[in-house]
Amino acid sequence: MKIQIIKCLKDNYSYLIIDETSLSACVVDPSEAKPIIDFIESNNINLKYILNTHHHFDHVGGNAELKKKYNSNVIGFKGDKERIPEIDTLVDDLNIWKKENFEAKIYHIPGHTTGHIAFHFFKEKKIFTGDTLFSLGCGKIFEGTYEQMFNSLKKIKALPKDTEIYCGHEYTLQNSNFCVTYDANNSRLKEKITQIKQKLDNGLPTVPTILDDEMHCNIFLKAKDVQAFSKLRDLKDNF
Ligand code: ZN
Ligand code: FE
Repeated sequence: MKIQIIKCLKDNYSYLIIDETSLSACVVDPSEAKPIIDFIESNNINLKYILNTHHHFDHVGGNAELKKKYNSNVIGFKGDKERIPEIDTLVDDLNIWKKENFEAKIYHIPGHTTGHIAFHFFKEKKIFTGDTLFSLGCGKIFEGTYEQMFNSLKKIKALPKDTEIYCGHEYTLQNSNFCVTYDANNSRLKEKITQIKQKLDNGLPTVPTILDDEMHCNIFLKAKDVQAFSKLRDLKDNF
């Protein structure tokens, strides 16, 4: 299974998950249809499934056009059935979603929105975290509570340490500035920042990131309790 990173809008990432034997594919969070269509058409891919982590426009903006063009099936959280455009398949916390060679466990991870989910392709050790966990950051809390977001991140922290994290935005550099301001003596963080800058200088994405790196470098994952986490989230909102 191959992951193709597709840049969308200003700083969004959509992902094509491609079964190279059948050329069937899923797209995660198509912000817009055009860049997805361009890749699909030039690579003869069949876009069968549209996976949405949450209902925000920059994650579902391409749903309608892609579904119409490819007759794809739209998968999203059951609680967001009124908010995810063109939704077909409703999934819930801890469901296993399985089609063809694609198999993912669903985690309900509220905080950024009340209906946010992650898709964990556990056999391949890859998780799509939308706007909940970013590299060196976490999403803003728009609809949920600090406690919900803290617990959602805890679920991701419990996955195998070599899990690859695919997040919804290229926010890594800004996030790293915050982390290093409040965690100035973290040498592993400084090493990671060097690598991040190299990638960006070469026009490359900083995703995926590895869970083990995030556990050591992402200040939000290092927060010991909800109080510490909440304080960091407030500081970041005003950073
Ligand atoms: Zn969002
Ligand atoms: Fe977003």
